[in-house]
Amino acid sequence: MKETVDMNRGSKKFCLNCESEVHATYCSICGQRFFLYKPNLGLLITEFFQTFFLLDLRVYRTIREILKKQGRFVKSYIDGRQVDFVGPVHFFILILGVYLLVFVSVGNLIYDSINDSFVQEDETKQKIEQLGTFLKINLNYLYFLLPLVFAMVMGLFIQKGRYNFAEKLIVSFYLIGIAILMNSGILLLALLNVKLFALRILIIIIPLPIALMQLKDEYGISDYFKSLAVVLLSYFIYAILVAGITILMMK
Ligand SMILES: [Zn+2]
Repeated sequence: MKETVDMNRGSKKFCLNCESEVHATYCSICGQRFFLYKPNLGLLITEFFQTFFLLDLRVYRTIREILKKQGRFVKSYIDGRQVDFVGPVHFFILILGVYLLVFVSVGNLIYDSINDSFVQEDETKQKIEQLGTFLKINLNYLYFLLPLVFAMVMGLFIQKGRYNFAEKLIVSFYLIGIAILMNSGILLLALLNVKLFALRILIIIIPLPIALMQLKDEYGISDYFKSLAVVLLSYFIYAILVAGITILMMK
């Protein structure tokens, strides 16, 4: 059943990919696994399941660690504890995908009932609906701007030279990512009662600033208010940017 591949020259093992000498299960030069056996169907099936399962495990683990340790997770990731988790950009895109899926399925229902409860006059209603539609679309497409804005504004809170811009972006992708995930949960909750949609504001004033605050080695109550200011300012700038782009697009 299992055939050995002729890869032994003398008593040494050599990598089939880069031909370096291999001392363990994986090649220390290129990282390819050292296979003793010829590929077979069983290996392919195992790989198929491992790919999905491992990927899910890492995503699950990343979400769990951020929820459990918030800013301390991001700090340890930047300090080098990385292999067990999905990278920040990967994480953000994945969460954005989940959010868009939820948004496309339930977002319209919720926004429609909010519009209905606030607007009576027909002409105004039309205009607001039109603006709202553009804003909704843009908010989704432009979500990538939020981590950028957040990373820039973060400089006001984090001491100079502590993190470079790429590291601030890592913080942004993880923290904004988890905020968007919570947002998706609230969108689903709002299906039960549209008033629950207001819970979104809690994300901005509780978990997000707390996570940001934890990037400091020591923090107190004044750090919470400083990081809250950073979060609020980021969302404010983001909203202005999106509104500006929306108005430009509507012309
Ligand atoms: Zn190799």
